[in-house]
Amino acid sequence: MTYADQVVLACRVHPMAPDAGVAEAVAVRGDRIEAVGSRAQARAWIGPGTTVTDHGSGVITPGLVDAHSHPVLGLRMTAGADLTGVTSPDELRSALATAAAATPSGAWIQAWGLKPDAWPAPGPHRSWLDAIVGDRPALVRFFDGHAVVASTRALELAGTAGLADVLGPGLVGRDAQGLTGVVREPAGLAHLDAVIAPADVADEAARLHALLAAMAATGLTTVHALDLEGDALAVLAAAEARGRLPVRLLLSPWCGPDLDVDGWRALVDLQRRSGERWAVRGVKLFLDGTIDHGTAWLSRPDRWGQSDVSLWPDRERYAAALAFFDRHGVATATHAIGDASVGCALDVIGDLRRAGSTLVHRIEHIETAPDHLLPRFAEVGAAACMQPTHCTRYVAADGSDNWSARLPEHQARQAWRTRDLRDLGAIVALGSDWPIAHYDPRQVMADAQERRPAELPDAAPVGPEQRLTARMALEGYTTHAAAADGLAAELGVLAPGARADLTVFAADPLELPPGELLTCPVLATYVGGVPTHRHADLPH
Ligand SMILES: [Zn+2]
Repeated sequence: MTYADQVVLACRVHPMAPDAGVAEAVAVRGDRIEAVGSRAQARAWIGPGTTVTDHGSGVITPGLVDAHSHPVLGLRMTAGADLTGVTSPDELRSALATAAAATPSGAWIQAWGLKPDAWPAPGPHRSWLDAIVGDRPALVRFFDGHAVVASTRALELAGTAGLADVLGPGLVGRDAQGLTGVVREPAGLAHLDAVIAPADVADEAARLHALLAAMAATGLTTVHALDLEGDALAVLAAAEARGRLPVRLLLSPWCGPDLDVDGWRALVDLQRRSGERWAVRGVKLFLDGTIDHGTAWLSRPDRWGQSDVSLWPDRERYAAALAFFDRHGVATATHAIGDASVGCALDVIGDLRRAGSTLVHRIEHIETAPDHLLPRFAEVGAAACMQPTHCTRYVAADGSDNWSARLPEHQARQAWRTRDLRDLGAIVALGSDWPIAHYDPRQVMADAQERRPAELPDAAPVGPEQRLTARMALEGYTTHAAAADGLAAELGVLAPGARADLTVFAADPLELPPGELLTCPVLATYVGGVPTHRHADLPH
C-alpha cells in the first residue's frame, strides 16, 4: 500500500470485526480506516508525510456509539434546576424554593430530573407545587421526560383546562378538584412547551457544542438522537457554524399518531438533511409512554389499573406508517416499553420482513417482556435498543421503587432482559437516553455487566441473570449499535473502509472490573481521523 496519512498506535487494538484478532496499529487515509495490524506491519505504512500518534499503553476500540440519546431535545428538557440528586420531599421543597428565588419574576420556574418517589404522598399535585411557587408559572419535569407537574398559573397560561377534554385523562391528570397539574406524553407536553418562552437558538447551539465536547471526553464518537423537534435544524446549523461538532449526530424525527400521509412524506423528505457531522436518519414512533406514569402499554393493566392502552389508538395505522417508511427506505425506531407494545412492534416488523423488507427496524427500551417475545427479535431481524442504567439507577432489587410497585411481580421480574436477548441472537444496541440517565458510556457498559450501580459493590443487583459480558457491553456500543442503524460497515468497527472513529482507553475495557471501567480515563477520541478529545493530564 501507499503511505498512510496517519497511523495511530497503542498497546492493544480491539477491531471488533468478525475473525479479527487483537492488533496494535490503525492506518488512516482521509477520514477512513485503511488498515489494522501489528506495530511491525505499521512500519511499512509510515512515510515522510505520515502523522504518527503513539498512545503507548492505551487500548483502542472502535469509536463508541450511543444508540439512544437526546442531546438536542435534552437542551430543553434540562432547563432550570437539576433535581437528579433529589431523593426526598424535603430536598425537593428546598430545591424548588431555591429555583424559584433564582428565577426572575415573570419567567417560568423550571426543574428537571425528578424521580417519582421523591414527591410526597399521595402523589404529584399542583397544590403542593403552588405552596412553594405561589402564583408563578412553574414546571417540574420527571426524570423520564414523559410527564411534568405544572403549577396552577402554568396551567392557566397554557390553557390546559380547555385542552383537557381533547387530550383525555391519560394525558391531562384530573381528580375531584379538577386538574391535578400532571401532564403526560408528547401530545400533552407539547402545548406546555409552546407557551414557555422560545429558546434562543444561538444559546442552544453553544450549549450543544459544550455538551458534545463533554460526551467526546467520555469516549463517544456518534450519538443517535431520537428526536428532531422544534428548532432542532436551526440549532444544528448554528452549532456547526461555531465549528465542527465534537461527536457525529444521527437524528430521528417523531411520527405521532395524528400525522397523515403528507406528514409521513415530509418525514421521508427530511431524511435528506445533513451537515458535516450530522444527518437525519430514521423516524421515531411512540407506541406507549412509561410504566412510571401509567402510560405504558401492558398486556394487562398495572396495579393502579393503568398502562393498558397504546398511544397509537389504531394499530393498523401504526402498521401502515411503518410500511410507508419501509417502502421509502426509512428505518424506524419504535418506543415500546410495555410487553403489549413490544409484541405489537414485533408483529408489524415481522410482517414487513415477510413481505421482503431488508431494513433493520428498531424497538426502543423493552422494559418488560415475557419469554415468548424474546426469540422473535432475531427471527424478524428487529434490533433491541436498551438502556441498562434505567434499570440499575431507577429500579430497586427489593421492588420498593415506583416502577416495580406498579407492575405485577412476574412482569417486574422480566425487566430489561439484555442477556436473554443476546443469547437468543438479537442485536442489542445500548444507550443512555440522556438526559434520562447519564450519557457516560463507561457507566452504561459497567452497569450492564453488574445490573447495579457499578460504584456500589454492596447494592443488590436487579435481575443478575441479565448481566452482559464485557465484550457484549462493548459490542452494545460498537458493532451492535452500528448494526441497529444499518451502518455495520461504517461505524462501530475498525476495518478497512470504515470511518476512522476511535476511542482510546487508558486500560482495556474488556479486562477491567466494571467498577474500574467507570473511572478509566479516555485518553483520546477521534472522529473521521480528527482528535475530538485528548486527556489533559495523561500521556497519549
Ligand atoms: Zn428516549
